[in-house]
Amino acid sequence: MPNLNFHPAGRHFLQIPGPSPVPDRILRAMSYPTIDHRGPEFAALGLQVLAGLQRIFQTRQPVVVYPASGTGAWEAALVNTLSPGDQVLMYETGHFASLWKRLAERLGLKPEFVALPGTDDDTGLPVSWRNGVQAELIGRRLREDRAHAIKAVCVVHNETSTGVTSDIAAVRRAIDAAGHPALLLVDTISGLASADYRHDEWGVDVTVSGSQKGLMLPPGISFNAVSPKALEASRSATLPKAFWAWDEIIDMNKTGYWPYTPNTNLLYGLAEAIDMILDEGLANVFARHQRLAAACRAAVEAWGLPVQCADAAVHSPVLTGVVTPAGVDADKLRKLIYEHFNLSLGTGLGKLKGRMFRIGHLGECNDLTLTATLSGVEMGLKLAGVPLRASGVLAAMAQLQATALPAARYPG
Ligand SMILES: *Cc1c(COP(=O)(O)O)cnc(C)c1O
Repeated sequence: MPNLNFHPAGRHFLQIPGPSPVPDRILRAMSYPTIDHRGPEFAALGLQVLAGLQRIFQTRQPVVVYPASGTGAWEAALVNTLSPGDQVLMYETGHFASLWKRLAERLGLKPEFVALPGTDDDTGLPVSWRNGVQAELIGRRLREDRAHAIKAVCVVHNETSTGVTSDIAAVRRAIDAAGHPALLLVDTISGLASADYRHDEWGVDVTVSGSQKGLMLPPGISFNAVSPKALEASRSATLPKAFWAWDEIIDMNKTGYWPYTPNTNLLYGLAEAIDMILDEGLANVFARHQRLAAACRAAVEAWGLPVQCADAAVHSPVLTGVVTPAGVDADKLRKLIYEHFNLSLGTGLGKLKGRMFRIGHLGECNDLTLTATLSGVEMGLKLAGVPLRASGVLAAMAQLQATALPAARYPG
């Protein structure tokens, strides 16, 4: 049993890129009594969250909600649209793209990766894990596929293992320019409600997302936004699907209900999160994340450490990956920071294990959350004996001051 009575003074800093800190408002909303999921009050809640989700995904199409982690919604996107042995083109942006590919293999699909080749001279890390999706590589592979054997293109919008955000509209254009009918499936589990994302405008067929990142909820629910073309594909796709099948859920959702017992209290939290995000305004939410990310990068650059994302045009607004110098184990550093400052940072995943750590600046995060986090990281780097070029905290503060905004935007 973990010692749950251990409460060090002050707040824990949960600065991993998901789960992100859950605002008190959302925790309170989740504490309302669980109601009859077939009763009249429930339908009002169901219709409210489903309409709100469409605004967050920027879609007029159905958004399916599952009582599952993001991995479940990954599986749902594949089993609803594809058949055993189907070829799927995926892009290797990092660890989450690799996990989605493995899931596709386990379902009996034939996924193949495209990626930029090689490793970087300065860090020795895979080039493809430091850059975004190269839409032209997808376009080239699709043009070779004259028989249209490839049934879907799968890409991760915000690669949480690296801190790189890809241009989804460019992937759509590449598919269209190749004259290829493949579906476009996109994972924005960590991008939604933090990085600009437009399901309809970008022509995405299935968007996969989850609750515990930009939506600021605990883990436990996840989503598929579904285009008419994806819905059409689901009628003839033959991978086995029952619990994940869209048809019955979308049908019952019309009246605000689900075919099974939904996660009522997480839906209370979701209704509250949608209110918070829409009250701030989606454009303001995205701008806040961009501004915090720019300040975080200013800190890393002042320290003289490489940012994991090597392409300034596609830095993630959600998190920043920091590469540690040769000989400095990033996980030992994370442990030291956790033990001294009660601050959790994200670990290096997959090919990046021990080589980097990740600073989350998503969801419930403002100037002081970020500068406090950076203070903890800077003190930890010094305790670990890592030579720093200059103070990252001061650089971040200067960047935040230069772009300062009044925090409250009262109407009028
Ligand atoms: C968190 C995350 C996942 C996995 O979601 P779970 O809720 O852990 O199943 C998948 N893809 C991306 C990009 C993520 O950030």
